[in-house]
Amino acid sequence: MLNEVFTADIEVRLRSGEASYLLRLYRKERAQSEQATIAMLTSEVMKAYGSHLVVLEQNGEGDYAFLYAGARVPDHDGQAITGKSTSAIAPETAELYLMGCEEAREQNDAVCINHITKPKCLVHHWECLFLPMEDSAHRRMFVALCMPRENKDDFLRNMLDNTPEAMIAATPVRDLHGEVTDAVVLYANKTAARLSGHVDTNKLVGTSMMGLFGDVATAGAWARNLTVLRSGKAAQFEFHHRSQTDSRWLRVSSMPTKDGLLASFHDITTQKRAQLELEHQKKMLMDEMEQRRGLEQELWALAHLDPLTSLPNRRAFRESALVKLAESQTAHRPLALISLDIDHFKHINDAYGHGAGDTVLRRVADVLKAPLRPNTDMAARVGGEEFAVILPDTDIDSAIAFAEKLRRRIEQTVVVVGEHEIRPTISLGIAMNRRSTNLDELMDRSDRALYTAKRSGRNKVCTEVDVQAKPGDGTTAAA
Ligand code: GH3
Ligand code: MG
Ligand code: MG
Repeated sequence: MLNEVFTADIEVRLRSGEASYLLRLYRKERAQSEQATIAMLTSEVMKAYGSHLVVLEQNGEGDYAFLYAGARVPDHDGQAITGKSTSAIAPETAELYLMGCEEAREQNDAVCINHITKPKCLVHHWECLFLPMEDSAHRRMFVALCMPRENKDDFLRNMLDNTPEAMIAATPVRDLHGEVTDAVVLYANKTAARLSGHVDTNKLVGTSMMGLFGDVATAGAWARNLTVLRSGKAAQFEFHHRSQTDSRWLRVSSMPTKDGLLASFHDITTQKRAQLELEHQKKMLMDEMEQRRGLEQELWALAHLDPLTSLPNRRAFRESALVKLAESQTAHRPLALISLDIDHFKHINDAYGHGAGDTVLRRVADVLKAPLRPNTDMAARVGGEEFAVILPDTDIDSAIAFAEKLRRRIEQTVVVVGEHEIRPTISLGIAMNRRSTNLDELMDRSDRALYTAKRSGRNKVCTEVDVQAKPGDGTTAAA
């Protein structure tokens, strides 16, 4: 049974050392003279290879005579076929010799045939090198060297051909300075042939790696393999191979061998696509979460912040004040609440317009924010032109000092609206927490202190003591 016939790149495809050696001898001979002569088969050559040699001569159309056949050639014992012709032996074996001679004659060069015979149950695999020659009288002859190949080779080959990984063994090509410039494929399995778009593995053998992997789409992969060849260090990498019709991801493992490299290519397109899809989904999810967080923040701000001044609104103030009040009650620490209101604000609106009133509100808010202790104090807009400040861990004296500071700063503030200068003032009322205080009661007390400040002339700070004192006794206002 004929398996493969190859006429090109025989040097790199031959497995047996004997056949390689004879081919080298033959090539040397052909380099010196037009034809190789049978004299090439010296007594040393015959001694070494005689049992595997066959010498044939054409003795008719499609028929060749066995002038000599060694003892260990396919398919008969050498003694039995010497002197016979191909037409007189088993057709299966005749086919091998006929094909070899005809091809060698046509090419006028060496031809190699991988031949498989099946005597009984053992499979024999032969590597047969056919060489066209002449004898001294210029008679055309054909010399065949038939070397049995080990079954092991075929098992390995089968194994490699059936792995899902594409495998390529290559030997380097060097320039005059010994620098590696390319590599030639020595072996490629079936998956490699499929992957590179070749019909069969033999078409790949002998081709340049740079030709295979050197185009723009795979330049990176070629560069990595070249580095392995030059450095002799193994490398693993992934690359995306893209052509007009194909897009695939490959994981490459490139290992240096004695003088060359063994590269295996694993198609990871499915995993890679799944991974990319997962990353895409993850990003979409993160974007959505981000968007949701943004919306939640917006909602929170809408519910808790006053849009004009960006201060917490009444609801946020209550939520936070309840916590701070409870904490100070538990810890038996003083807590001050200041209620404050812009004086004659209606007049500001009436005199300079609603827009000017808004500007004043924003400026007052800015003044309130400035002296607050972060994460401790809190100022809020609790009504139209009414604000509240809560000061945990603050006794009455410190609260009065703080309120005075606010009053003074507002008093010194000049809000310029067009050609007008508005000088707002505020009135402030202070209440302290007590053993059984709740928030409403505390706010009520600070409002009453504020009312007292208003009544006693505005632009003033009043405390609960001032509320209890009789109006007009001259000792009420803290300002
Ligand atoms: P007092 O000194 O007694 O506090 O007098 P007042 O004029 O400040 O108090 P009043 O309660 O009579 O007037 C408050 C005004 O605040 C009435 C209302 O139109 C105005 N106001 C409430 N909210 C806003 C706002 O957001 N922007 C502006 N420009 N005015 C507002
Ligand atoms: Mg007011
Ligand atoms: Mg008011």
